[in-house]
Amino acid sequence: MQFGYSERCLDHDTGPRHPESPDRMRAIREALKERHCVSYVDADPADEAAIERAHDPDHVDAIREFCEDGGGEWDPDTIAGPETYEVALKSAGLAIWAAEAAVDGADGRDTPFAIGRPPGHHAESDEAMGFCFFNNAAVAARAAIATRESVDRVAIWDWDVHHGNGTQEICYDDPDVFYASTHEAGLYPGTGDIEETGEGAGEGTTMNIPLSAGCGDTEYRHTFDEAITPAIRRFDPDLFLISAGFDAHRHDPISRMRISTEGYAELTDAVRELADDVDAPLAFILEGGYGLDTLSESVAVVHETFDGREPVVDDAEPTDEVADLVAELRDIHDL
Ligand SMILES: [Zn+2]
Repeated sequence: MQFGYSERCLDHDTGPRHPESPDRMRAIREALKERHCVSYVDADPADEAAIERAHDPDHVDAIREFCEDGGGEWDPDTIAGPETYEVALKSAGLAIWAAEAAVDGADGRDTPFAIGRPPGHHAESDEAMGFCFFNNAAVAARAAIATRESVDRVAIWDWDVHHGNGTQEICYDDPDVFYASTHEAGLYPGTGDIEETGEGAGEGTTMNIPLSAGCGDTEYRHTFDEAITPAIRRFDPDLFLISAGFDAHRHDPISRMRISTEGYAELTDAVRELADDVDAPLAFILEGGYGLDTLSESVAVVHETFDGREPVVDDAEPTDEVADLVAELRDIHDL
């Protein structure tokens, strides 16, 4: 795997004791260094035209002006410093790099993973929220469609524990972006009901899987195999992006999900197999993940999986509740 990373991403200052801190980047780098992964690709920051494929120009201006004035609390969770606007452009630029590098032939051991911050999936077309300013995954998907001849359709699986309300909102009526989210029901921001499936030309290209607290490797794997996989096969994407948050880990401090570190290896292997099957380039874009050890170890097992490590797969059965939810999803999405 090749990682996109920039020291510039350390300059987004969220103040003391904020879970979305520069220490997340440092922990990931340390864990990768232990795996002898020490070289990183830097990327140009996204330009405003690239951001505006997913955001209103007024939103871009508002974030820039807020940061030029010194930043502060955009909302109680979403803190900006003077450097945040530029760093958010960098984080989006890393996501664009990952998408474009995948399309341009980086695969197998070179599969790209953008390790940027701030994260993106809560940022809506005209709003920053949930630690996010610009929607890195949506910007990257739209960049690939705009700049790469071979890309007309992009699928995104968002496995972060939170619903990616921003990615959904930006792409809700877009028939060219399929967005699937697995998230803990009832957690921030409260959106992502199973009945939210897209609108207009985008009807059917949003899939929400609100899982109850306590779901783990087996439930996520069942959901991916039985609902997301057939939906993505039918959509037939030219690019497959993973909005890769690691806050559904069993030891993450802000969720009650139960994915193990090994579970992330299993999910990585599963998405790699699907990407191969549908012949879609694959790229990863970092979202959340707030336990420094669990975040960094989970990113490291994603890397190791592309380096030939075989995941240990447990063939336990999912809970009846999740089996029923998946059956309902298959019905709603006519799979
Ligand atoms: Zn999250």
